[in-house]
Amino acid sequence: MSEISYVSTRGGGEPVTASVAILKGIAEDGGLYVPEKLPNPEWNLDAMKELSYREVAFTVLREFLTDFKDEELLSCINAAYDEKFDTPLIAPVVKAGEEYFLELYHGATAAFKDMALSLLPHLLVTAARKNNVKDEIVILTATSGDTGKAALAGFADVPGTRIIVFYPKHGVSAIQERQMITQEGENTCVIGISGNFDDAQTGVKKMFTNPILKERLAANGYRFSSANSINIGRLVPQVAYYVWSYCRLLKTGEIEKNEKINFIVPTGNFGNILAGYYAKCLGLPINKLICASNDNKVLADFFDNGTYDRNREFILTESPSMDILISSNLERLIYMAAGNDAATNAGLMKELSETGSYTITSDMQERLQSFYGNFATGTEMASAIRDYFENHDYCMDTHTAVAAAVLKKYKEDTGDTHKNVIVSTASPYKFTASVLKAITPVAASAETDAFVLADALEKLIRVKQPGTIIKARSSEIRHNIVCDTEDMQKIVEKQLGL
Ligand SMILES: *Cc1c(COP(=O)(O)O)cnc(C)c1O
Repeated sequence: MSEISYVSTRGGGEPVTASVAILKGIAEDGGLYVPEKLPNPEWNLDAMKELSYREVAFTVLREFLTDFKDEELLSCINAAYDEKFDTPLIAPVVKAGEEYFLELYHGATAAFKDMALSLLPHLLVTAARKNNVKDEIVILTATSGDTGKAALAGFADVPGTRIIVFYPKHGVSAIQERQMITQEGENTCVIGISGNFDDAQTGVKKMFTNPILKERLAANGYRFSSANSINIGRLVPQVAYYVWSYCRLLKTGEIEKNEKINFIVPTGNFGNILAGYYAKCLGLPINKLICASNDNKVLADFFDNGTYDRNREFILTESPSMDILISSNLERLIYMAAGNDAATNAGLMKELSETGSYTITSDMQERLQSFYGNFATGTEMASAIRDYFENHDYCMDTHTAVAAAVLKKYKEDTGDTHKNVIVSTASPYKFTASVLKAITPVAASAETDAFVLADALEKLIRVKQPGTIIKARSSEIRHNIVCDTEDMQKIVEKQLGL
């Protein structure tokens, strides 16, 4: 197995080890860390079908994180994928109708972010130790809902870390707020701000780039780090479940050895589907990666015509985790489509930040043949939920339903008959009102208490509510700080005793 170094997609700086890339999060020139060369493993997938999720994760991670010792990876993996998940399979593959669903929402917060954020804290602490970083790591995160809770759950009581999450007091759902403010863990802190998500994000970015604050942190034995999805430590764990689901289909006899399959991925920041592309590049027999967007269809247009254009109206949809106009992780794909040419990528990213759009060459488009992009409207999404519930007794959340609706369009468009795995990113209980509205003739009122709706949904779909929802309604509120946007730094200083 060869050593993998990480370089910036924009060409700045020297190659670094995996652990340094994880510690830094983002490269100093603003680029994202990518493997200089992707691993080239010789996996016998047919033999790997007997492995547990943990064992598959280990097999995948050791290809990418080559400066971690096997024992280090194993201990991170064992701490991540344990009873926090409500099934020993960790990520079950379920058949409904003709399609397979890879359920990535059985972790602590009932959304797919748990797959990576259960592991990242352990990778980060190990990376710090390996690089003789003695400081306590302070994770600062701004959240519009899901990431914050998944990061809190991942970092809670992890020695050597603290986590401070800012959320817009009036900008998250009742269940999401409740999930966060009841968070346990001596090292966790959750703060509502009076502004919106952008204000929270801007406030956090300001702290990250404040040199005086950085010095004061260092003098007190702290350093900031980020848990957002451009960290390579969040991307690599996601490669594992593509390999795992393929092995499960082999194991259950649903596919033949070497049979190619499609994955359909509900996409926002492009992290999940990029991990699928890495899996394909490593040799997993994937035919197409189908990129599903909601009405914010920047990516569908990009795969259609090669122009990425964020100059458009931002639409609030019922699949809010996909409401994104700049998909940060796409930069890693652009870099590869340019033939690992950092200069070309840096030029395009400069165009994006200056004009809001860029167009790739036809040669680059040619290299993106593994992808198909399309989008589904809110109405199409809701009929997919209803269709699967009525005809196959299977209930999807709104994000997964966008993928199912796009798959339908793909099949009509292409007549492709490969088997399909729909990557399921959230429990229907996280978006209860929208799901109920889709499957019952009586529209649920937005006024109705979220937990009442959860009980109503449970009666209809006869699937148990996730523990995190049950817990959120009865646990005591542990976090009640609310501050103005201007005071975010003051609060952080106070929390850290600076
Ligand atoms: C974050 C998220 C997505 C989008 O995933 P990306 O990796 O950002 O493309 C889709 N669905 C749900 C439920 C999410 O939380």
